[in-house]
Amino acid sequence: MDIFDLMQDYGHEQVVFCHDEESGLKSIIAIHDTTLGPALGGTRMWPYRSAQEALIDVLRLSEGMTYKAAVAGLELGGGKSVIIGDPKTDKTEALLRAHGRFVDTLGGRYITAEDVGISVDDMEYVYQETRHVTGIRSSPRGSGDPSPVTAYGVYWGIKASCRQKLGSDDLSGVRIAVQGAGHVGYHLCEDLAAEGAVISITDIDQERVNRVVEEFGATPIAPDDIYDVDCEVFAPCALGAVINDQTLRRLRCRVVAGAANNQLAEDRHGDAVDARGILYAPDYVINAGGLISVYSEIVGYDAETAKEKARGIYETLLKVYRIAEDDAIPTYRAAERLARHRLRKARLQKAGAGQPEPVATPATT
Ligand code: NAD
Repeated sequence: MDIFDLMQDYGHEQVVFCHDEESGLKSIIAIHDTTLGPALGGTRMWPYRSAQEALIDVLRLSEGMTYKAAVAGLELGGGKSVIIGDPKTDKTEALLRAHGRFVDTLGGRYITAEDVGISVDDMEYVYQETRHVTGIRSSPRGSGDPSPVTAYGVYWGIKASCRQKLGSDDLSGVRIAVQGAGHVGYHLCEDLAAEGAVISITDIDQERVNRVVEEFGATPIAPDDIYDVDCEVFAPCALGAVINDQTLRRLRCRVVAGAANNQLAEDRHGDAVDARGILYAPDYVINAGGLISVYSEIVGYDAETAKEKARGIYETLLKVYRIAEDDAIPTYRAAERLARHRLRKARLQKAGAGQPEPVATPATT
């Protein structure tokens, strides 16, 4: 494995391998692209079986962050870091602080946040060593729980998807099956119920289901039955990889639009969902409210402004759908095209070389 070949393939600017003898830290920080701004992305802690596995994961995840920020119209680049180890047994204050010191050496080119295996409390230790962290409770600029903003963005994303697929964005009477009644799922149901949507809800935590049933008049569904619900919109708000070979043939919805990350088990499922005539709202486009909320910390927005910005996901998704139609490609590919277009435009502007060719439709420029 040649690391420079990999960096070239993924398009990375910088990859930093970090080692601290005393704490046992082994981590990798990947800065994918800083064309639009500093590279932002969480720190993940995971028991990777090899450094190679960790490297591929951090390259893939940081590239995804570049596209997510670009499509959301934020002045942010894409980055990510991974700590190799089991978060249940290997996580210590010394290890987190050592990672924080490495983040600090990058002088703000990389900004971190919590991710899988790392909690908000863990980030407080990182914050002891570097200011280049978001989502910190003790920070005066801390933006708090991003879930309501994420949910609000998903709500507007569902409206845009219904306009595209059903011809109207009025959700009253529209049947929506929500998978996951956690932080985002609960707030999403609140927004959907306020507009008169007919909600089906599932979760493996019965108490969370009960709350949504009682407060928003939703119909409870057993976790494995959610894929069979006859509805207009399936909104995955729990797990990744829910669009896969098994679930695809069961889906009875016209739209898949929800908050969960990495909904497509593989890219080919994005082609398959499209072939079935189901409109898929690319996950990183519709769930960008969380990133918008974190970004608000950097630029100093208040919560209301962050929500207003998340509402823009409506227009962004319509752009994605227009590109998909005009270029006859699945929506997940159209989202990549939109992201790459913004990056290309910014690079050309930096180089003083004018504008790139518009993507497919004037509405995308
Ligand atoms: P959460 O942990 O609060 O909620 C997830 C819920 O899913 C939990 O209630 C859990 O019990 C339930 N669940 C787990 N397995 C399930 C199953 N098999 N069937 C049904 N329910 C199941 O998480 P969250 O913050 O609400 O995030 C939900 C999803 O959205 C995640 O994929 C997350 O990565 C993504 N996301 C969240 C944010 C945010 O701001 N919180 C931002 C972007 C993306």
